[in-house]
This record gives sequence, C-alpha cells and structure tokens, in this order.
Amino acid sequence: MTSETDSPLLAHIKRRINVSGPITIADFMTEALAHPEHGYYRKQDPFGRAGDFITAPEVSQMFGELIGLWAAVTWQQMGSPPKIDLIELGPGRGTLMSDALRAVRNVPGIGDALTVRFVETSPVLRTHQQTSIMAYGIPATWHETFDDIPTRANVPAIVIGNEFFDALPIRQFERGEKGWAERLVGLDAKTGELGFVRGAETPITDALIPATMRGAAKKGDIFESCAPAIAIADQIARRLNETGGGALFIDYGHPGSAFGDTFQALKGHEYHPVLSDPGDADLTAHVDFAAIGRAMNEAGARTGAVLTQGTFLRMLGIEQRAEHLKTSADDAQKTAIDQALSRLIDADQMGTLFKVLIAYGRDTTPPPCVSGVAG
Ligand code: SAH
Repeated sequence: MTSETDSPLLAHIKRRINVSGPITIADFMTEALAHPEHGYYRKQDPFGRAGDFITAPEVSQMFGELIGLWAAVTWQQMGSPPKIDLIELGPGRGTLMSDALRAVRNVPGIGDALTVRFVETSPVLRTHQQTSIMAYGIPATWHETFDDIPTRANVPAIVIGNEFFDALPIRQFERGEKGWAERLVGLDAKTGELGFVRGAETPITDALIPATMRGAAKKGDIFESCAPAIAIADQIARRLNETGGGALFIDYGHPGSAFGDTFQALKGHEYHPVLSDPGDADLTAHVDFAAIGRAMNEAGARTGAVLTQGTFLRMLGIEQRAEHLKTSADDAQKTAIDQALSRLIDADQMGTLFKVLIAYGRDTTPPPCVSGVAG
C-alpha cells in the first residue's frame, strides 16, 4: 500500500514488492543507493559536515597524503615502471586522490607515469572528482565498473578503495530451527509499511552459507554475504597477477568472518532505521575482509594480515606528518590537526573499527605495511 507521503522511491519499492513479493536486502540496497533517478549516490553529495557522514579523507588531508606516499613507494618497489594505472574505487568527492597527487608530485618520474582511473557510478560525484584533481594535470578516466578499465600491456595497477566495499549490497541469512532462511524486505500486512520478513528454510539457502560458518552457527545467528565485493576482489586479484601491482582497501569491518547484523543507515550523522528513508539515508554493512582476502588468494594474489587503520597510519608516519604540519600552523589550526589525528587513529574513534587490507600480485614485491603475510 503506498501512501501520499511516500517518496517516489519508497512508492516504487512498495509497488515492486506488491507485484512480485518480498525482495532481498541486496535488492533493497540497490534500489536505495543506485536507483538511476532517486538513488542516494545518484542524486546528491552525501559527504562532509553538512552531509550524512564524514569519511577519513574529509577529516584530514593527512589521510590522502599518506596513501599517496604508500602508492608512490609501491610504484618505486616495482622498479618505477614508465606507466602505471592509479585506480580508485568509489572516490567520493575526489579528496583522497587530490591529497595523494599533491603529496607525490615531487617524486621523480611519477607524474609522467600516472594515469588516474576512477570507478564511480554517480554523475554528481564524477564532476566533483574532476574538479578536485584538475590542478595536477594528470590524465584521468571514469569507469562504471572495475572490469571496464582497459588492461594495457606492461602497465601495472595500484588500486585504492576507502569506504567502497561497505556501500555494496549484502544479503542476510538467519539460522532457524533446522536450516537457514533469508531475511527479506516485505510489506507489513496491517500497516502496509516496509518490514523484514523471513524467507523459507531451504537446502538452497543452506548452500549459500560457507561450510565453515554453517558448522559454528546457532539459532538466531545472522550471516551476511556480499557477492559484488567478492566479484570485484576476484577481478582486482586477476589484474594484479597479470600486470603486477598492489591494492589497498580501507573500510569499517571485521578481520574474520563473523555472525551478526551490521546493516545500518546513517542520516545527518545519526543512526537511522534502515528501511525508513530509501534514497535519503546512507546504507552500509561491515566488510568481511576475510571473505575478500580469501577470494583474492583463490585468484592467486597475495594479501597481508588485516591491520587496523590506526596501526596502518602510524606505520606510514602520520604522527610525524601532524607534527610537521603544526610547525607552520596557528593555535586554532594546531588544535584542529590534533583533533583530526585523534579521529583517524585513536581506538575509540576510527582507529580500530576501520581495517586495512593490502593485496599484491604474485610476482610483485610486497607493498609497504604488508606484515605477517596471511596468504
Ligand atoms: N572514498 C570516498 C567515498 C566513499 S562513499 C571517501 O572516502 O570519502 C562510497 C563511494 O562509492 C561513492 O563515491 C559512491 O558514489 C561510490 N559507489 C557506490 N556504489 C558504487 C558502485 N557499485 N560502483 C562504483 N562506485 C560506487
């Protein structure tokens, strides 16, 4: 039942469920985030203090600068190849890339070697990205998907993604009495509003849960899977093996596969009911780094141990960088730098919740910060 106060997207989702029955959470996320006209990432710029959430590159320039230096050292360790594709997945406003390019432009030879490749579906954000990096005069191309990026002979890739995987659609499964049932989005029989419903427990649903997780589950446990993340991880791993190169993924997530409902919505910097405002709230789920790493290893690429964001940024020298920035800052700026540093690395801020996974081609020297090689 649609009501007059429903947004066009909510009315569309209700009609869809009315016609063909409950939809998966993945279908709901795809409608809410990527609907061509009303999807969250299609129509607006959701970042920053005025937006719904703030990401690490928007907290401080130090974040993008250090990732730029990570990329430059990865390039040098490959023997400074004459051409390199610097690929960013889901670049938002282009802030990370802009800070990265500014930090590396004095590295000899890198300016002539770089082509920037952005994987971005949002036309609004593509425009922001173009503006952000214009000043550096580095050639850049935009692509709908990672697979659309052409592979050039002898051109390695460095792939970066901050808060990219958490925006990809997940499915949820709940352990019932006998087996697994999918959590679906349906319509409440009384109110006509969106609500969660349980699908049937079937052997087919059981088969969607990895055997290792199936054995450990008890009634009520929720398992989340993100097929698009696994597919992209596989494609990136193949590219890293084919041309050489490294990848760096940073996201809110867990290092090992775990049970739990991590599907969440943010609106105006506050948690929001997940089904309430499709298209007007950001939807995310925690990233299962173990599943991504496994997919990359199965495709032959190598991965380092999952690090926390705090450890990773400290290894790259963020504290020294902050001190250096403070030498030419006034008192208010010094306070702002200290606050940003704390936000990025402290355990009660983004330092522990955000994780870092580094992958590299089987013939590539391990990039910086690969410690305790896992695969
Ligand atoms: N990396 C940025 C933005 C993170 S938000 C930052 O840290 O600030 C997620 C980004 O991924 C946005 O740019 C969004 O438009 C993009 N995005 C979401 N789903 C996508 C998809 N399926 N393919 C490509 N880009 C996507």
